[in-house]
Amino acid sequence: MSIFRTHTLACPSCGAPVDYELVHSVNADRRPDLRDAILDGSFQLQQCPGCGTAFRCEPEFTYLDQKRGQYIGVWPASRRHEWQACAAKTREVFDHSLGVNAPREARALGDKLTVRTVFGWPALVEKLLAQDAGIDDRTLEAAKLAVMRTQEESPLPGRLELRLIAAEGGDPVFAWLGGGSEGEALPALKVPRKLIDTIDADPAKWQAVKDSVAEGDVVDFQRELLAS
Ligand SMILES: [Zn+2]
Repeated sequence: MSIFRTHTLACPSCGAPVDYELVHSVNADRRPDLRDAILDGSFQLQQCPGCGTAFRCEPEFTYLDQKRGQYIGVWPASRRHEWQACAAKTREVFDHSLGVNAPREARALGDKLTVRTVFGWPALVEKLLAQDAGIDDRTLEAAKLAVMRTQEESPLPGRLELRLIAAEGGDPVFAWLGGGSEGEALPALKVPRKLIDTIDADPAKWQAVKDSVAEGDVVDFQRELLAS
């Protein structure tokens, strides 16, 4: 089930109270429209009836897509510094409903799911895009590190986040996000699919890198860099 609850929030622009339908869980099997909206950036975008400003809250919900085998605990970017505790909480909820502590029938469903914990909207979009493009997320993170090594200049670690924003004809496209009002516009990095295939073709060579980009259910080489 997809669950929403109405909260009254202050409009970030004019301060007027706005009734906001805050999402608590998304079931993408039953509501594919919600997955589409997450991908196009319109999900949870709400307009203030007073001043017309569109805004959206930081995400905090559970995302389930049985067809695609994804179970994702989505947390606000502001809680990155607690990433281990958030990941543990997501795992606890999963274990209770679909994992080791769930009834047998539920566990059978859970066995087909990959559990992840992410922080902020771009990190969630990235997991959906990677799955859709058939790219393992450890491979994706390893590819980011490989790409960064080829760049003459990369932003200071931890200030912007490097995320998959598209897969054009199977080629991953990365962008540095989060510059906000500073107006930084770094060009998107389109990477040949061959890089992904090269990493997948030589697991032994890339094992150490793939291990380094992940800790438990958090597969994100920036998990510590962005946490400060
Ligand atoms: Zn307003």
